[in-house]
Amino acid sequence: MATGFYWDERCFWHAGGNYALTLPVGGLVQPQVAGGLPESPETKRRLKNLMDVTGLSAELDQRSAAPADRETLERVHPARYLNEFKAVSDAQGGEIGHHAPFGRGGYEIATLSAGLACAAVRDVATGSVENAYALTRPPGHHCEPDNPMGFCLLANIAIAVEAALAEGLVKRVAVLDWDVHHGNGTEKIFYDRDDVLTISFHQEGNYPTTTGGLADRGSGAGDGANINLPLHAGSGHTAYLHAMDRVAIPALDAFKPDMIIVACGFDAAMVDPLARMQATSATFAGMTQRIRDAAKRLCQGRLVLVHEGGYSEAYVPFCGHATIATLAGSAISAPDPMLSSFDIRQPSPAFDAFLRQSIDDMAKTLGL
Ligand code: ZN
Repeated sequence: MATGFYWDERCFWHAGGNYALTLPVGGLVQPQVAGGLPESPETKRRLKNLMDVTGLSAELDQRSAAPADRETLERVHPARYLNEFKAVSDAQGGEIGHHAPFGRGGYEIATLSAGLACAAVRDVATGSVENAYALTRPPGHHCEPDNPMGFCLLANIAIAVEAALAEGLVKRVAVLDWDVHHGNGTEKIFYDRDDVLTISFHQEGNYPTTTGGLADRGSGAGDGANINLPLHAGSGHTAYLHAMDRVAIPALDAFKPDMIIVACGFDAAMVDPLARMQATSATFAGMTQRIRDAAKRLCQGRLVLVHEGGYSEAYVPFCGHATIATLAGSAISAPDPMLSSFDIRQPSPAFDAFLRQSIDDMAKTLGL
């Protein structure tokens, strides 16, 4: 059975408006001919292009999906929010949250993006594909039920989890978010639940600046089922793999999910414009190998990676290719032309020891 790869050209047509980095153009901010909002189609399209060139795409079971329907969306988002989003989208687009602009027709593209995540989760749960990667766009992990944030307009993963739970396909789901920003939306949606474990690795205080603390463990029945690992800026290859071995994997072993979903951002990579971490393509391959092994051990290999952030147009394709090839167990590689340069710029041994010690300290506080 193959790895499923869920994508749709129309998701690349989502338009975020006229920005330079995260600044709306105007005044002293000169418009950019190329580039603009960092959440651009290029990172995603270039990843798909690289997979086509190496032949990796052809090894995968490529699928699109139906847009998530209204009933599916309303398990997470109130009707009032969906109505407002659709009305602004039908007019000429705009901004109804915080750093989550969209163009005309953005609602339909967002429901398609959520639909890709839903299909990937459903098809893995029913055994139609072995595991899956969903190249969703717009992303989802910052979106709260009635508050779009950080380029995220619908909570793709939460919508897919709720659909699978409602259909009786899964009972206990774990979401590991290795996007460099805190998965505040996913956390908020499942904060008082004990059937969904949420784990977020993120650069401390990056975005959102006020969420993602180590002490935020969930509430009520969900007490202990939310894990935040706020990492120091500068964390690199060794620190990330240590965080997997010391925190994520033990937490998954204890929770015993029947499916694992990864909020897969590539913005912890070196040269990402929106963060200050030092992961490489080898880091993402190593994390993917660990989570794939955990899924095989814990839940018959049921694993879905859902695309989130990652803003280096040049480097995301190599991180994504290494991740998806590892997920699929493929021998096809796209040799990373920047890896040797990035390897010699990893944290010094002394700083690395400090980073690993701080992860050990947080793991102890978490009871892991
Ligand atoms: Zn991010």
